[in-house]
Amino acid sequence: MQACHTSDLHTHSRASDGTLTPAELVQRAHQQGVQTLALTDHDTLAGLAEARQQAQSLGVHLLTGVEMSCVWQGIGIHIVALLPNQQDLGKLNAHLIPQEAARQQRAQQIAERLARTLAPKPEREALTAQIWQQAQEYAQGTSLGRPHFAQVLCDLGYVTNQRQAFKKYLGSGKVGDVKTNWPSLAEATQGLRAAGTITVLAHPMRYRLTQRKRSHLLQAFQAAGGQGLEIVSGRQEASQTQQLVKEARALGLKMSWGSDFHKPTPWQDVGRFSPLPASITAEESILHWLH
Ligand code: AMP
Ligand code: MN
Ligand code: MN
Ligand code: MN
Repeated sequence: MQACHTSDLHTHSRASDGTLTPAELVQRAHQQGVQTLALTDHDTLAGLAEARQQAQSLGVHLLTGVEMSCVWQGIGIHIVALLPNQQDLGKLNAHLIPQEAARQQRAQQIAERLARTLAPKPEREALTAQIWQQAQEYAQGTSLGRPHFAQVLCDLGYVTNQRQAFKKYLGSGKVGDVKTNWPSLAEATQGLRAAGTITVLAHPMRYRLTQRKRSHLLQAFQAAGGQGLEIVSGRQEASQTQQLVKEARALGLKMSWGSDFHKPTPWQDVGRFSPLPASITAEESILHWLH
């Protein structure tokens, strides 16, 4: 079950691995009845100026956001950061500069590692260059990520679809899952706080942790200054939502939510995600701290 919501605090555009331009994303949000939208591209603010222009003309309330990659105990973790005060934009941008450089460096390593698995030694260098080149072309100067490599693996015939590309080569623990360039959870969170954002641990159920390990993660996040938890991310079981609400309340973390929209499909859209519990109070909602 998915409901249509008037606020969506986690979405992507073509500035990272989404398919819509920032303007198209805002337009689609508006059509879907979303009144408050956060654009949270991976490690970049590049789509925000265009999104803001469209949001102003349509009367959508746009929140400046970003989804930052980091690592905690060897696991890739994502933090959604939302900026209440536009005057801090420069500081946030500065915090993200090393992140964009890390993505470029990582891209080179991913290409090398994929080529090492896919080709015999004499052909590796050429394949590395080809994979890297094609991934850059897909990313078109935007935040280069694993979905771009997934597309390249499809094009070169190593897999038949994106899902298979992640399952075999790019997903957690696979050869193309390179995390060495990311900052630690503590560094990322502290820096985001210093840049004036409100920080939310993204899609906590996506990491496939035991409840005990997730509890350790939440404590580490909070100890570093983390303030919020995504209690709903896209489609999820009602029991998971209830569990996350409980965990947020236990630590006093603010509650956030979003579609994690990347592209329109019959099962995902801007503003579409599982129901939010009616029991959430205004003060528990992250929106209360953003206006
Ligand atoms: P990156 O930002 O380069 O680390 O790539 C992570 C992105 O890959 C996520 O934000 C998703 O958009 C996408 N992704 C992760 N896992 C999968 C998967 N199993 N299938 C398809 N896309 C995925
Ligand atoms: Mn993504
Ligand atoms: Mn994510
Ligand atoms: Mn996301």
